[in-house]
Amino acid sequence: MTRQRILFGEQLGPQFDDGDEPILLVESLAAFRKRPTHRAKAHLYLSAIRHRAAELGDRAELVRTDTFRSALTGRDLVAVDPPSYAARRLVRSVGAEVLPSRGFVTSEEQFASWVRGRDERSLVMDTFYRAVRQREGILMTRGGKPVGGRFSYDADNRQPPPKKQERLGIPDPWWPEEDEIDAGVRADLDRWEADGAVRFLGADGPRRFAATTAEARTALQHFVRDRLPVFGPWEDATLAADWTMAHSLLSVAMNLGLIDPREVVDAALAAYDRGEAPLNSVEGFVRQIVGWRDWMWHLYWHLGERYVRRNVLGARRRVPDAIWELDAAAIEANCLSSVVAGVHEHGWAHHIQRLMVLGNFALEHAWSPAETTEWFTGAFVDGTPWVMPTNVVGMSLHADGGVVATKPYASGGAYIDRMTDYCGGCRFDPKVRVGEDACPFTAGYWAFLDKHRDRFAANPRMAQPLAGLGRLKDLDQLVEQERHRTRW
Ligand code: FAD
Ligand code: SF4
Repeated sequence: MTRQRILFGEQLGPQFDDGDEPILLVESLAAFRKRPTHRAKAHLYLSAIRHRAAELGDRAELVRTDTFRSALTGRDLVAVDPPSYAARRLVRSVGAEVLPSRGFVTSEEQFASWVRGRDERSLVMDTFYRAVRQREGILMTRGGKPVGGRFSYDADNRQPPPKKQERLGIPDPWWPEEDEIDAGVRADLDRWEADGAVRFLGADGPRRFAATTAEARTALQHFVRDRLPVFGPWEDATLAADWTMAHSLLSVAMNLGLIDPREVVDAALAAYDRGEAPLNSVEGFVRQIVGWRDWMWHLYWHLGERYVRRNVLGARRRVPDAIWELDAAAIEANCLSSVVAGVHEHGWAHHIQRLMVLGNFALEHAWSPAETTEWFTGAFVDGTPWVMPTNVVGMSLHADGGVVATKPYASGGAYIDRMTDYCGGCRFDPKVRVGEDACPFTAGYWAFLDKHRDRFAANPRMAQPLAGLGRLKDLDQLVEQERHRTRW
C-alpha cells in the first residue's frame, strides 16, 4: 500500500506538503450537515479543495464521500496534525503518522514552554505577544527594544469613522474571478440543496475570498499596497456602507492554510521598511496575527475541549431564529440588521461588527455560549472549530469568567453611535433607555450590569460602570422593560 499524505480542508497551501508522498484530498458532505453552514463557506471549501487537486494533478487523489472517516479507513497515511479535536482523534484512530501542526507563527511546543507554570488567570495576550516579538525579532531594534519605543500602538488606533463620509474612500479589496471549478461547485451545491441532502444559510454570490495560494498572495499584495497604510486608525470603526473598511479579509485564506501567517506578517513588515505604511498600522496588523490569531489557536488546545461549555453567567437563551436564518428584515435595530444582512451576503463581517454588534447583543441578551459558538462557526466563511470558542465564549460572552478578557465586552448604544454611523438610520435612539424608542443596546447594557452586579463588584475594571448604574433613577422600570422586550 502506498503511503499518502492527507490534506485537510485547512491545510491546502504548499507549507503542508513536503513533496514526498502522493496526496489524499477529501470532500465530505457530512461536514456541512454537522451544523447549518453558510453556502458561501461550503462553496469556498469545495472550490479550494478542487483547485488544490487540479494544481497537484496526478499526485492527488480526490475522494468524494459522505463521512471523512470512510475515506481514511484502510489507508496508510501521514498527516500534519489537524486543527480540531475531532480531526485529531480521527487521524490517530486510523493509525496515521502524525507530524507537528503548522500554519501559525509559533509552534505548539513553543507555546507549551511559554505557558508552563502560568495559571489561567495569568494568561495575558499582550505578554505572549511581546515574547513572540522578541523571540522572532519582529519590529525589534538591534538593541532588543520595540521599534518606535512601544510594543503597542493601540492608543493611536481607536479613531471613530470619518464624519460625513459613507466610505473610507480607499480602493476595494482585490476580488477573485470565478472559473469553471467554481461553476462546478455551484452546480453541485444547487443539486444537493434541491435533493434535500443538505440545507445552507445565506447567499452564494460571487466568490469573494481566495481559493488558491496564488489568489491569496495577490489579495495580500493588494491589501499591503492599498489598505495597510490606513489599517490602524480605522481598526475599531464601522461605516454601514463600507463592509470591508481597511481590513485584509485574509483570515479566510490563512484558516484554509492557503497562505502562511508569517508570509502575511513579513509582507507588512517589508512595507514598513520601504516607508510605505506607518508604524501604527503595521504594528496594529502584526498584533492581530502574531498576537491574537496565534493566541486563540494555542488557547483552544490549552483550555481544553470542554471550554466551549463554560457558562459562568448562566446565559441560557436560544439564539433567535432571525439570527440563525440570517433574516435581516426581521430585525429593527439598524446596527444588528445591517451586520446580519452582511453576513447573509458574504458569510463575513469585520471584527468590530462581530464583537461590538453581534457579540455584544448576544452577551447582553444572554444567548447560550455553546449555541452562539455553533452559529458563528457555521455562518462565517472563516469559522473553524479552533477559532470560535475563545472568540465567542471568552472574548464576546465572558462565559469563562475572565480568562480571555478581564472584563465583559458590553457596551451601550452611545459607544456604537461614536464608532459607527448606524444610529442615524435607526428607529431606536441610542440616548433613550426607557420607552418605545429605547435602544436595545443601551437598555440591554444597563439591564445586563444590573443582573450581574454582585459578580462584577469584585472586578476593579467594572467599578466605573457600576457607579453609573447606581445613579440611574429609572433602573427598575428599565429592567422590567428589558425582561419583556420583544422588539429589537
Ligand atoms: P484583519 O482585521 O485584517 O486582521 C488580520 C488578521 O488577524 C485576521 O485575518 C485574523 O487572522 C487575525 N485576527 C485578528 N483578531 C483575531 C482573533 N480575535 N482571533 C483570531 N484571529 C484574529 N477570526 C477567524 O479567523 N475566524 C472566525 O470565525 C472568527 N470569528 C470571530 C467571532 C467573534 C465573535 C469575534 C469577536 C472574532 C472573531 N474572529 C474570527 C476574529 C476576527 O474578527 C477575524 O479574524 C477578522 O475579523 C477577520 O477579518 P480580516 O481577515 O479582515 O481581519
Ligand atoms: Fe443600534 Fe441602538 Fe444605534 Fe439603533 S440606536 S443602530 S439599535 S445602537
